This record gives sequence, C-alpha cells and structure tokens, in this order.
Amino acid sequence: MSVAENLLKIKETLPDNVRLTAVSKFHPESVLLEAYDAGQRIFGENHAQELVPKYEHLPKDIEWHFIGHLQANKVKYVAPFIHTIQSVDSLRLLEEINRHAGKHDRKINVLLQIHIAQETHKSGFLYEEIEKLLKEKAFDALENIQITGLMGMATFTGDEKQIRREFNGLNTFFTKIKDIYFAGAHFFNELSMGMSDDYLIAIEEGSTIVRIGGKIFGERIKN
Ligand SMILES: *Cc1c(COP(=O)(O)O)cnc(C)c1O
Repeated sequence: MSVAENLLKIKETLPDNVRLTAVSKFHPESVLLEAYDAGQRIFGENHAQELVPKYEHLPKDIEWHFIGHLQANKVKYVAPFIHTIQSVDSLRLLEEINRHAGKHDRKINVLLQIHIAQETHKSGFLYEEIEKLLKEKAFDALENIQITGLMGMATFTGDEKQIRREFNGLNTFFTKIKDIYFAGAHFFNELSMGMSDDYLIAIEEGSTIVRIGGKIFGERIKN
C-alpha cells in the first residue's frame, strides 16, 4: 500500500473531532510530500536537526509539531517556525521556548507531556508536578507560549486494559485542571494521545489529536 492509501485508510477511522499528526521522523522529504499531496498538513518530528531542513524545503503551509524530547539548547532552531511543541517536559524547557518565541515575536503552542506509562525512561511531568505549578501560577508570566493541552504516551504493552486505564487517567486529569485552572480558556482543548498501535483506544478515551508514524509511512529506517 502507498503512503496516500495508508493515510486515507487511517483518516476513515478518525472521528471528525480528532486530528492527525503524521509522524515523519527518519523519513525522507519525498515521502512526506506524498502525504502532503494526499492532503496531510500536520507533521510531527522529534529531532531539531532533521526538522529544520524539512521545514526549509517543504511547502510552507505545513503545520510542524515537535513530538519528542527537546533539549533546551535546540529550541532556538525550531522557534522561528514551529507551530506546536507537543512534548514539553520541564519548566526550564517551557521558559526557554517562551524566551525564543519572544525573540521572534511569536506565540508557540505547547502541550505539557505527562508521564503516564510504567516505563521510567519515558519523559514527562508527574500529575502532582503540574498541579503544583498551576497552583503557583508558574506559567502565567510566560506570554509567548500558549498551553493548549496535554500529551501522554501509554506503556508499550499488549495489555489493552492497562493502556486504556492510562489514557483514561490522563483524560480525567485534563478535565479536572481545565475546570479549575483553565476555566473559560477555549484554547486549552487538546489531548494528544495515541500512536499506530493504540490510537483507537486513545480516541475512545478522549484523544483530540493522534500521532501516527508506522501505520502511514511503514517501518522507519533508523540511523
Ligand atoms: C515515533 C513517535 C510516534 C509515532 O509512533 P508510531 O508507533 O510509529 O505510530 C508518536 N509519538 C511519539 C512521541 C513518537 O516519538
């Protein structure tokens, strides 16, 4: 099956209120263009040095999302153009994004990544940390970022119940902090959950944007 066929097949499974981040890391620009020509506009990458040339060469109406661990010293490379950073996992990184966005007179959308998986190597804030920061109004002074929601990666497991529990927990937390700390803030409305193997569960548990790579582009060529 071609990239375009894969893409259309996945889109058929997405409800109207769920958007698709096509995760194109490690794939060449020609392959991204195939997806672009099939109508895809949101692409996700997780390395600044791979993303920048793709941004420079590919059509300018692509919405670029950063989805991996971003080192603070790499923020400057993506700040001029990145639409959303889905994977903010520390206050220091958030402050750095705010600073560089300010230099470019931009507002960058961010999702706070929450650690919901069992594996300890997966990054993200703990629920308690986010609540503490919100209580302290730690984000209020950051004028060049917009916190548009939360992101989470479930445990890599075949246990569907566990995956569902983790996504459900994130959705519950999302609703809770939306009511308490983002009341009336229409922009706080994004819940990024779900990858190739678990996105259908994620959608059932309230995902608004899924991040799919393998099921669109096939096996990655890792280097
Ligand atoms: C690679 C990656 C994805 C896509 O994973 P697939 O299993 O290929 O769909 C989604 N989210 C993040 C954070 C990733 O790093």
